[in-house]
Amino acid sequence: MSVLRFHAIKASLSRKPIHIKEEKKRSEIFGENVFNEQTMRQYLTKDAFLGVMNAVEHGTKINRNVADQVAVSMKDWALAKGVTHYTHWFQPLTGSTAEKHDAFFETVSDGVAIEKFDGGQLVQQEPDASSFPSGGIRNTFEARGYTAWDPSSPAFIYGTTLCIPTIFVAYTGEALDYKTPLLRALNAVDNAATDVCKYFDKNVKKVYASLGWEQEYFLVDKLLAASRPDIILTGRTLLGHSSAKGQQLDDHYFGAIPNRALNFMRDLEHECMLLGIPAKTRHNEVAPNQFELAPIFEEANLAVDHNSLLVDVIGRVASRHNFKVLLHEKPFSGMNGSGKHNNWSLSTDTGVNLLSPGKTPMSNLQFLTFFVNTIKAVHTHEALLRASVASASNDHRLGANEAPPAIMSVFIGQQLTKVLEELQGVTKGKLSPEEKTELKLNVIGKIPDVLLDNTDRNRTSPFAFTGNKFEFRAVGSTANCGNPMTILNTIVAKQLKDFKVEVDKLIDTKGLKKDEAVFNVLREYIKSCKTILFEGNGYGEAWETEAKKRGLSNNKTTPEALKAKISKQTIDLFKEMNVMSEIETRARYEIEMEAYIKHIQIEGRVLGDIALNHIVPTAVKYQNTLIENVKGLKEIFDKSFKTVAKEQINLIEQISAHIEGINTHVNKMVDARKKANKIEKMEDKAVAYCNDVKPLFENIRYHCDKLELLVDDEIWPLTKYRELLFTR
Ligand code: ADP
Ligand code: MG
Repeated sequence: MSVLRFHAIKASLSRKPIHIKEEKKRSEIFGENVFNEQTMRQYLTKDAFLGVMNAVEHGTKINRNVADQVAVSMKDWALAKGVTHYTHWFQPLTGSTAEKHDAFFETVSDGVAIEKFDGGQLVQQEPDASSFPSGGIRNTFEARGYTAWDPSSPAFIYGTTLCIPTIFVAYTGEALDYKTPLLRALNAVDNAATDVCKYFDKNVKKVYASLGWEQEYFLVDKLLAASRPDIILTGRTLLGHSSAKGQQLDDHYFGAIPNRALNFMRDLEHECMLLGIPAKTRHNEVAPNQFELAPIFEEANLAVDHNSLLVDVIGRVASRHNFKVLLHEKPFSGMNGSGKHNNWSLSTDTGVNLLSPGKTPMSNLQFLTFFVNTIKAVHTHEALLRASVASASNDHRLGANEAPPAIMSVFIGQQLTKVLEELQGVTKGKLSPEEKTELKLNVIGKIPDVLLDNTDRNRTSPFAFTGNKFEFRAVGSTANCGNPMTILNTIVAKQLKDFKVEVDKLIDTKGLKKDEAVFNVLREYIKSCKTILFEGNGYGEAWETEAKKRGLSNNKTTPEALKAKISKQTIDLFKEMNVMSEIETRARYEIEMEAYIKHIQIEGRVLGDIALNHIVPTAVKYQNTLIENVKGLKEIFDKSFKTVAKEQINLIEQISAHIEGINTHVNKMVDARKKANKIEKMEDKAVAYCNDVKPLFENIRYHCDKLELLVDDEIWPLTKYRELLFTR
C-alpha cells in the first residue's frame, strides 16, 4: 500500500493545470443545451408553446397532441446537436440522480431504421423501479413505478443524451422521489401566500419560492484519493492524524485560487453555462483545498434540479482535471466541514420579493407579515426543520463541534429585533388614527433604512435573515435540497394559511380594518414565537442551556432528529397541506433511518478493515525493524545495550499497546454491530448503531493515529492529511 501512496504523491506533484479555452462570452453560451423558453419559441408551434407555458405557470395538463408536438421538436433540436439517446431524469430517495438511456433509434421494417420520439415517451416511462428505496410502499402495494414529465423544469442535453426532468411515483400514486413532494409543497405555499398577498395587492396571482444554494466541496488529487480506501468507500477520512499545519492561519479562505483548481472551476462553470445553471460565485473556503460554488437564485424546483445536476456534473469535470471532489459534510477531522446554505425567499408574479422591505408603509407591512409568519413557522416546526437536514454525514456538523448547532433558531439582527419589540406593544383591537400613523411612519416606515445598516451578520445561526431572504445554513453539502425545501415551504404554507384564517376572523367578527387585523395577529405571533429568536453565539455551551430552558429541541443525532418526521404534528401537517400522505411520510422516515444504519455499518466495516489489514501489519513491520535493531545493539553492546536501546524498546512497547488497543476496539465494534444487526425494530437498530457502534470509531482511530506518529513515514500505507490537504 505504501507503494500506492508514494506513487500517488509523485504523480500528483507533477500535474499541470489542464488548459481551458473560453472562446465565447458566458452570456452567449448560457442555456445552449437547454430546451428553454427561447428554444421552445423557436421550435414549437404557437399552440404547443402555449400548452407548455400554461402547464408551467398554471399547472394545467398537457394534452397528448401538444405532448406529441413537443416531443418531435425536442427530438429535432436534440438530433441537431448530435444527441442519440433520451432519458427520464429523476431523483429517487437514494440521494443521487437516476437515468436510463434509450436510443431514439428504432427499426420500422426489415433493415430500415429511423429516429423516433413521441409524446407518450416524453410524458411517461416505466423504469424498473424495484431497486430504488420505497420504504415499504412497493411491498404493500404495487411493484411498479413510473416517471412523469415535469414541464416546469426544462429538458437539457448532457453529453449525447437528452435528459427530461421527471417525477418518480409508485403506480398507486405515492411519491418515490424528492421532486414530487417538493412540487406539492411549492403549490401549497403558492396558494397560501397568494391569498395573503391579496390583503396588500389584488393583482398578485402567483407566488414563487426561490432558492439560491451555495455548494461547498473539497478537491483532492484523484490518485491521492484512490490511495485511501476510506475516501473511496465512505467519502471521508475515517482516520489520519491531523496535519501540523491545518487551517490555523486562515490563509486559504478567499485566497488566490490555486491554478489547477481554478481551471477545474472554469471548466465546471462552462458546463454549468451550457446546462443553464447560472453559476456566479467561486471562492476558496476556510479549510485547505475547500471551495464553494454558488449560482444566482432561481425558482425553487429548478434550483433543486440544478443542484442535483451540479452534484453529478462536478464529479465528472473533476475527474477530467484529475481531482476527486468530496461533497461529504466532514471529509477531514479537525477541518471545517462543508454545507450547502439554502437561501430562500418568496416572490410574486408581479415581481415583488416578499422578504424584501418595500418603499411604502403598506409594502412594509406586507414584508413584516411574511417575515413574522416565517419565524412563527420555524418556531412551531423547529424539530421538523432540524429533521429535514438530518443524515449520518451531517451529524458531523450539527451537534458536533462544528457549525451550525443542532438547535434551530432564527437570527434577525438588532434592528429588526427592535421593530418586533415595538410591534408587540400595538394596542389590542382597533387602533387610534395616531397610533396607526405612528406605526406606519416610525416603526414600519423606517425598515428600509435600517436594513441597510443591518450588517451584523451572525455566522453561527442555522437560520438567519440576511436582508431580503432567509439563509438556512444547516443543510448538509451532500443533501438533496428537495428535502429541506419541501419542509420549509410546507411549514410556511401552513402558517400563512392559519394567518389568513385569523385575520379574516378579526375582520369579520370584530369589525377591524384589514391593517388593524394584520397588526393584531402579528403582535400575538411575535409574543408567542419569541423563544426561537436568538442573536448570540450559536456554538456556545451557554446557548445549549438557554435553548433547553426555552423548550427548543437539541437533537444531535439523526435517529433522534428523524423522529420529528413521524410525529402526529408532522403527519397532520403534510396531510393537510396535500404534500404527503401518512404512508408517504412514514415511508420516507423508514428510508432515512435505513440509510443512516447502512452508512454507519459501511463506515464500521471499512474502518475495521483498514485498522486490521493496513495499519496493524504496518506497525508490526516497523516493530520488527526495531526488534532487529535492538537485537543488533545487544550484539554490539552486550550487557549495556539497554541504555542504548532504551528508546527503541520503549517504541516497541508503545506499538504493542496500540496494536492491542486497535484489536480490542475493533472486536468490540464487530460485536456491537452483530448485536445491532439482530435488532428487528428499525428505530432501535439505528439507535444501537448510533450509540454502541459509532462511538468505537473514535477509539480505533485514536490508536491508529498514534501509530501514524510512531511508524516510519516511508512504510506508512495511507496518504497523510498534509498530503491530502496541501497537494494541489
Ligand atoms: P452572501 O450571503 O454570500 O454575502 P448574497 O447575499 O449576495 O451573498 O447572496 C448569497 C446567495 O443568496 C446567492 O447564492 C444568491 O443567489 C442567493 N439569493 C439572493 N437573493 C435571493 C432570493 N431572493 N431568494 C433566494 N436566494 C437568494
Ligand atoms: Mg459559504
